[in-house]
Amino acid sequence: MPDNECLECRIVSGDFKTPGGVLLEGPNWMVVHYHPRKGIYPGRLMAVLKRHAKSLSDLTDAEAQSMAMVARRMTRSLDAGLAPERMYMLSFNEDEHVHFHILSRFKDDAIRGPNLVVQKMLVDEIGGQAEAEAMAAKLKPLLQDPQTGAGRQQ
Ligand SMILES: [Zn+2]
Repeated sequence: MPDNECLECRIVSGDFKTPGGVLLEGPNWMVVHYHPRKGIYPGRLMAVLKRHAKSLSDLTDAEAQSMAMVARRMTRSLDAGLAPERMYMLSFNEDEHVHFHILSRFKDDAIRGPNLVVQKMLVDEIGGQAEAEAMAAKLKPLLQDPQTGAGRQQ
């Protein structure tokens, strides 16, 4: 059941504005650039399940299957737009509404793995609203183009 205090429900309803707005929307998932709640991390995309569900174990078959497609599209758009060296897929669900993040790790990042996640998510103040909106504007057409990354060697 949607909850007025649930941040992800507020994103889905449009009550909580993310930089650049909705970048991609399908029947089950909505992709946004991460919002500046704790600092901007350029190239941090978030996919939010469009209905309020607390756990991956609650997903329908269609939601679970489309999750992989959405994640692939997110990584392809980041590859095309930012060319990170690696991308991390994260889901903590502390907000109790299924969502996941794709974080880019760049060649010059000195730390890697979980320590990078902590640094980027909780410590660094990397940019501001304008930078996040510019990043969203760059990634949105790549996310919406089904050909992005289609010819890429796997
Ligand atoms: Zn919710």
